[in-house]
Amino acid sequence: MTLSQALKSMRTVIAEGHDTSSISLDARLIACFVMKVDTAQLLNRLNDSVTRVQEVLMLELAQQRAQGKPIAYIVGHKEFMGLDFFVDERVLIPRPDTECLVGEALDYIQQKTDVSQPFFIHDCCTGSGCIITALAFFCKSEWPRLHFSASDISQDALDVAARNLARLVPACEHILVKADLLQDVDVCRQTADGRATFDLICSNPPYLPQNQLDPGMPASYWGEPRIALDGGKDGLDLYRDLIPQAYKRLRNRGALFLEIGDQQENLIKVLLECTGFSDIVTKVDLTGNPRCLLALK
Ligand code: GLN
Repeated sequence: MTLSQALKSMRTVIAEGHDTSSISLDARLIACFVMKVDTAQLLNRLNDSVTRVQEVLMLELAQQRAQGKPIAYIVGHKEFMGLDFFVDERVLIPRPDTECLVGEALDYIQQKTDVSQPFFIHDCCTGSGCIITALAFFCKSEWPRLHFSASDISQDALDVAARNLARLVPACEHILVKADLLQDVDVCRQTADGRATFDLICSNPPYLPQNQLDPGMPASYWGEPRIALDGGKDGLDLYRDLIPQAYKRLRNRGALFLEIGDQQENLIKVLLECTGFSDIVTKVDLTGNPRCLLALK
């Protein structure tokens, strides 16, 4: 069988599944994964023959795709901010929506901070580590003054984050801590009065209202860890805890960047204001939805 024929067979298998939104792309990504080539190389080899083992493996993976397994889990990676992240079922698959938060945080770090001062950045609920890794990657020239840390309640997630940091920013010093939000996270600047403070805290916490995930996990979240998505009854449980904790742990005029879910903007703004945050700004994602809130202590 030639590669071109294998692609056709995979397309047929995937087309019989539930998610037929990207049949050709999914087939190509599986082929790249099995043949260990990139897309350009793949397209140059369409007439090459594939081995029996490769053929069987491609069809098996196409079958998994047809059953709903996300392509990112099948091929083991996902592009985010132009970087190639390792992912598996221990973490949420990075979403393009989250590029909004990263872009805003990068602008802030590069334009609004004093380059002569050390700067402590913490990513809470880091998951795959895509936020902290992308911040570190795009701020390389400023590494000496930037201190990167991240936390998650899941050790499994921290293992994935560690792998992504090691892979994409191997020379970047960073600290990963297992923690329930910011509790006992003391990896930052210690002030004279014994307080540990950060300059910037960012987070994409689980924020989906429970009823969107019940009963059972909807197909669109196939295999993703519920703990990374479930924000309690109204989706706001983690913000209720995180916002006051972040307020305590930021230095004066320190910045908080939060990813938010649909219809949550106004409620979370109120939580921020009631806690004492000011200068609250909403940023929209590529589809024009409010997706990120920036607030200053
Ligand atoms: N943006 C994700 C989704 O809708 C949810 C991520 C989260 O809960 N932080 O699918």
